Amino acid sequence: MQLSKYPRVKLIHSPTPLEYLENLTQHLDGPDIYIKRDDCTGLAFGGNKSRKLEFLIGDALKNKADVIITAGAVQSNHCRQTAAAATKFGMECIIVAKPSWSKEYNGNLFLDELLGAKLVLLEEDNEALDQGGKLSMEETIENLMADLKTKGKNPYYIPVGGSNSIGSLGYISMTMELIAQANEMGIEIGSMVAASGSGGTQTGMILGADVEKSGIQTVGMAISSDATIVIPKLKDLCNQTSDYYELGLSYDEKDIIFNDNYIGEGYGIPSEEMIEAVKLLARKEGIILDPVYSGKAFAGMVDLIKKGYFDKSKAVVFIHTGGTPALFVYSDSFREYIQN
Ligand SMILES: *Cc1c(COP(=O)(O)O)cnc(C)c1O
Repeated sequence: MQLSKYPRVKLIHSPTPLEYLENLTQHLDGPDIYIKRDDCTGLAFGGNKSRKLEFLIGDALKNKADVIITAGAVQSNHCRQTAAAATKFGMECIIVAKPSWSKEYNGNLFLDELLGAKLVLLEEDNEALDQGGKLSMEETIENLMADLKTKGKNPYYIPVGGSNSIGSLGYISMTMELIAQANEMGIEIGSMVAASGSGGTQTGMILGADVEKSGIQTVGMAISSDATIVIPKLKDLCNQTSDYYELGLSYDEKDIIFNDNYIGEGYGIPSEEMIEAVKLLARKEGIILDPVYSGKAFAGMVDLIKKGYFDKSKAVVFIHTGGTPALFVYSDSFREYIQN
């Protein structure tokens, strides 16, 4: 697949490191465990969304956009990275933010404003606070787009998580990068594991592995919704993206591996397993995970390794998708667990 055919801007430090987790591998006595450091993509504390944004901002510039509109939870890592990417390319950024577990003015919310984004905060029941009406997130976005157009602006909408076919190309690209690194290092990868939310990351990984005919299995770990809701969406996004880039691949629901056993009580709500996983990687390897996505996905991977789910003769690669700025709004939840 010829990535250079598609509009793209440079946002990230790449290739991101592929590191061997020697202490953790010994501790768990399973397959070799590696970590792909996409928390180190570089842009405004990094994370997976920056890879998608290289193609999304490329497309926005091709369309001569001057304002970027996107949406997410108040602690959205996607919104933070979008704010940084938009400002770097001279565009305004408007973020429509839904309330979630933490309401603290810190972490990503603080960084959004620091990066110059304009925030439209929605209430619990999806009312737009500063619009005074009962508007859903979608309606709020539509109204903002229409309003900007009447003012002579050219807004470009990036969906929640940047998860459409254009954004997914970022993770096709990541997978190609990872396979090249693994070949160079002489590593045979059996599985890649990542947190899966809006689906663009997992879609890109599945397609990337297939485009390269690598035989690598992609395990998506749920952080919000159940498999019955997410798998059909992932299947659709995989097929749409394959069609969009004319890759000639097709997917059924049974081709998608998505594990929803490690969500805990819900999106952004801390679980004991997540806290233990974050603590484990911090203390074994000095690497920091996030509480909403990578912490829960890592907890799932560790549990699956303990249960013998993975082929021990091949490496398992955890894709660290970032999100660490959100950790600081969770410090109170961690306190009782980390003092011993
Ligand atoms: C957005 C995000 C994910 C999930 O990626 P999707 O493409 O939305 O599935 C995983 N980890 C972190 C830290 C994220 O911010």
